[in-house]
Amino acid sequence: MKKQFALKNQDDTEFVQPNVIHLFSLVGMFITLVMGIIELFNEHTMLASILFVASFVYFLGYFAFTRLNNSALSAAIILYSLYLLMFYLVYSGGVENTGPLWIFMVAPVSVFIHGLKRGLIDIAGFLIIISLIMFFPIEIMDHAVYSIEFKLRLIYSFLTVTFLSALYEYSREKSYLHTVELSKKYRQLANLDPLTQLSNRRDALNILKREQVRMKRNKEPLSVILCDIDFFKKINDHYGHNAGDTVLVELAKLFKHSIREQDCVARWGGEEFLFILPQTTAENANIIAEKIQENIHEFAVPIEGEEVSITVSMGIEQLDRSKNIDNVINSADKYLYQAKDAGRNQIFPKHK
Ligand code: GH3
Ligand code: MG
Ligand code: MG
Repeated sequence: MKKQFALKNQDDTEFVQPNVIHLFSLVGMFITLVMGIIELFNEHTMLASILFVASFVYFLGYFAFTRLNNSALSAAIILYSLYLLMFYLVYSGGVENTGPLWIFMVAPVSVFIHGLKRGLIDIAGFLIIISLIMFFPIEIMDHAVYSIEFKLRLIYSFLTVTFLSALYEYSREKSYLHTVELSKKYRQLANLDPLTQLSNRRDALNILKREQVRMKRNKEPLSVILCDIDFFKKINDHYGHNAGDTVLVELAKLFKHSIREQDCVARWGGEEFLFILPQTTAENANIIAEKIQENIHEFAVPIEGEEVSITVSMGIEQLDRSKNIDNVINSADKYLYQAKDAGRNQIFPKHK
């Protein structure tokens, strides 16, 4: 199965697309196999055998990626087997000393596979070994002899290709990080209420669905509290809409401080808030609602030199297997309106 997410290096700054690894292993396997067959027909038996071995190694890289799901292992197999093949081609000269022509692919493949930083370290190591092979070849078998001009120009042109590949990879990583940042920001904006910075209704519904699944799996209780500010219109009418906004912002902060870490409070509508309380029975939700109510009694927002205080009404409902989310919210809403009818500043139903 193909992984869709990006691999992250330890320093969190470089990103590698696993699709690249997948593609390179397939392309490497195919090219080395075809070239091996061609060299076999040309009676270059040694070169043909090495190309077949390389093709098999790329197959192992492909296997590590697709079957073992190990992208890091697959990347290392593909890249370092390519290096070994290049060392051999430069040492032996390949066909009529054309072997070194292939080393130019090392620069882009290294940065594509390992990202900019690690790719450049790999390339530096590769260049040192290639230079040693060309300038100080060890006599293991017949090796190619290149002119000093050829060797120097090969290194210069390799460095140029490395520079261009690094530049390309740098801008690719930069725009990738920028896109990741943007999508994170837009995801947050889509789920947050801009005024209070609480979850909005859409986010609350998603959280509720998630918690409902968890509730069914773990057989734990889950409750909600729907909370509406009493006579909020009067605050707007008396002090103005901006003052009303300030009250909503300050109240949101109070709500956030009144709940436990696992709980969530969302802005459900204009001056209505929804509390989602995992691992909480209706009885316990009642205790939490009372605590919130107490905190609100001590709460006052300074507006135009006056201390503006408010009260809220709350409706509580516990989820169970038979109720869907709409039923639960409707039921909490029904209790909320009973609390309003009973004179406001109340919690309904009473679980005592
Ligand atoms: P009740 O006790 O019955 O809930 O009375 P209420 O006045 O709170 O209820 P009503 O639904 O009549 O009025 C709610 C008001 O909340 C009306 C609306 O202008 C105000 N409101 C809704 N959203 C915002 C907002 O974002 N900012 C401000 N300042 N006011 C808002
Ligand atoms: Mg109200
Ligand atoms: Mg309302």
